[in-house]
Amino acid sequence: MSQNPLLSDYHLPPFDRIQPTHIVEAIQQRIAACKTTIEQVLERGDFSWEGLVVPLEQVDDLLERSWSPVSHLNAVMSEPALRQAHDQCLPLLSEYSTYVGQHEGLYQAFKQLRESAEYEHLNAAQQQVVKHTLRDFELSGIALPKAQKQRYAEIQAQLSELASTFSNQLLDATDGWHLLVTDESQLAGLPETAVQAARAAAEEHQQQGWRFGLDFPSYQAVMTYADSPELRRTLYEAYTTRASDMGPQAGQFDNSAIMNQILALRHELAQLLGFANYAELSLATKMAESTEQVEQFLEDLARRSLPQAQQEYQEVVAFAQQLHGMSELNAWDVAYYSEKLKQQHYAISDEQLRPYFPEHQVVKGLFQVVERLFGLRIEEQSAVTWHPQVRYFVIFDQDNNLRGSFYLDLYARSGKRGGAWMAECAVRRLTAQRQLQHPVAYLTCNFSRPVDGKPALFTHDEVITLFHEFGHGLHHMLTKVDVAGVSGINGVAWDAVELPSQFLENWCWEPQALALISGHFETGAPLPQELLERMLAARNFQSAMQMVRQLEFSLFDLRIHRDYHEGVDEQFIQRTLNEVRRQVAVVFPPAYNRFQHSFAHIFAGGYAAGYYSYKWAEVLSADAFARFEEEGIFNRQTGQDFMRAILEQGGSRDAMELFKQFRGRDPQIDALLRHSGIMNSAPPSSQPVPA
Ligand SMILES: [Zn+2]
Repeated sequence: MSQNPLLSDYHLPPFDRIQPTHIVEAIQQRIAACKTTIEQVLERGDFSWEGLVVPLEQVDDLLERSWSPVSHLNAVMSEPALRQAHDQCLPLLSEYSTYVGQHEGLYQAFKQLRESAEYEHLNAAQQQVVKHTLRDFELSGIALPKAQKQRYAEIQAQLSELASTFSNQLLDATDGWHLLVTDESQLAGLPETAVQAARAAAEEHQQQGWRFGLDFPSYQAVMTYADSPELRRTLYEAYTTRASDMGPQAGQFDNSAIMNQILALRHELAQLLGFANYAELSLATKMAESTEQVEQFLEDLARRSLPQAQQEYQEVVAFAQQLHGMSELNAWDVAYYSEKLKQQHYAISDEQLRPYFPEHQVVKGLFQVVERLFGLRIEEQSAVTWHPQVRYFVIFDQDNNLRGSFYLDLYARSGKRGGAWMAECAVRRLTAQRQLQHPVAYLTCNFSRPVDGKPALFTHDEVITLFHEFGHGLHHMLTKVDVAGVSGINGVAWDAVELPSQFLENWCWEPQALALISGHFETGAPLPQELLERMLAARNFQSAMQMVRQLEFSLFDLRIHRDYHEGVDEQFIQRTLNEVRRQVAVVFPPAYNRFQHSFAHIFAGGYAAGYYSYKWAEVLSADAFARFEEEGIFNRQTGQDFMRAILEQGGSRDAMELFKQFRGRDPQIDALLRHSGIMNSAPPSSQPVPA
């Protein structure tokens, strides 16, 4: 099988040699090899760790490492042939996953291992793998009668296809619309960086003028700065109706029916497995114990934040009235007037800060931060990648051991999915030949790219996003677990996965760290003290408004998955969202707004009935960071403790146990509220959150 073009006797994927025409066959071969190995293992009948788990992990890893670059390329370099090959593989992979999950012989083999004398002598990580595997068999319908097993398989295959269609339509809708501005006066208010980017985009398409698309940097600049309400309204409408029945592309890439189908199938799947609804199924593998506990957690935060959020909103309304005599604000006015208000209060704007956050300084500073915290050394190396903008780095620890490596792909471009994420290219594991396979990560962002020969200049938000994804990356790359099933982020409860990522964001607000990650792009001058002070003062500007927005997403996600039942009408999703907004929102969008049609986290990602995880894990991350506040933000010992207790452990033990080991006690919510600037005036909650 050495001619297989995706593979992966290579240390790194051969990105220059992956041909769409070979993908389906290569994946088919890999799956066939996995199945053959399963049958051989069962035939041999040695259900020890070495006899059962090791050979299966070995072939599964080859499959994963073949699929990972395909799935990644499809997300960052989308083109029709690749998309077609990718989508053709989805049913094959879904079929294989169901084949494993419902394999009675394999299930019995794992049960034997679980009940054997050997089990007690396995290490914690190995035991966790066995426990999780048995749990996953149950969640794949191993106990179901044949006809229902069949139905389970059909549902999984359909869900995987629908998720992919959802993403494809969202990407096509995002790339499929732009506005060409030819009247320069329309650009008033926009920062120079945004104007240059729009001009460069027009030139790229042989157009005269300024071209604005729906990629996030372009959209956000217009919403925040464009003086023209008409320009803001136009982009707002196009952006918030992507992939829907509304707006300028109405019906063209419409996700409406897909979303209803996804909910119906998820509900059916949950019921098939004996759960009342999909939210319960989702929580079966998470830290949170019940949908009630999650809802109470979110509602408690809403109760504490809403009065302040209303006050913050009223302030913007009053300000717009005073400034331009606006009697009420439209949805496309909120960011614009908020920015003006922020400037008035704190005399600070993103654009003033941008020159101090050039890419090379930010990336170098990030590496210095983790060097001081964890003793890491990060080195750029050459590697074959998928785009000239992509860089490749290798991480060494303080004893000079190679720990992992990552690709860094920072800029927005067409054909690349929006947002920022970390994904696995390879996981750490000890191979059957007792060799250590090092973890490799993809770190993907969608920042403004360099224009006019200047380096890319980041907003502070972009810096935070980079730290966030790098935190995920460290969790993946610093693991010391040698079994794939619980190495890195694998086997970590989904509502604890955001702990390391949100944790690392905190350094973006610390003057000592900011000294490392900032420096004027022309002069190298440090961020001036008074600018720094104003930036820190503005940290919690509208923080309660941001909090309730996150709670709106979380409650909406929880409730559509909990309250869905057979026979709901097509308006169910919109109605649920409207109800949640009435409860916790302070900004009410126009009726055509179809935010939910681009909510890929829950319809195409892994966050279904799990979006609350961000807030849940933020309790943990804020509380973990509070120990650094107590002991020094660059305290090496505290850093080492965090690395050993959390980052190195992966999913080998339960998240709460790991947290307590680091913190020496149960998590407390105070640090999150304090960091978010939420004045804690509400009566104390009876909820021990999250426990
Ligand atoms: Zn994250």
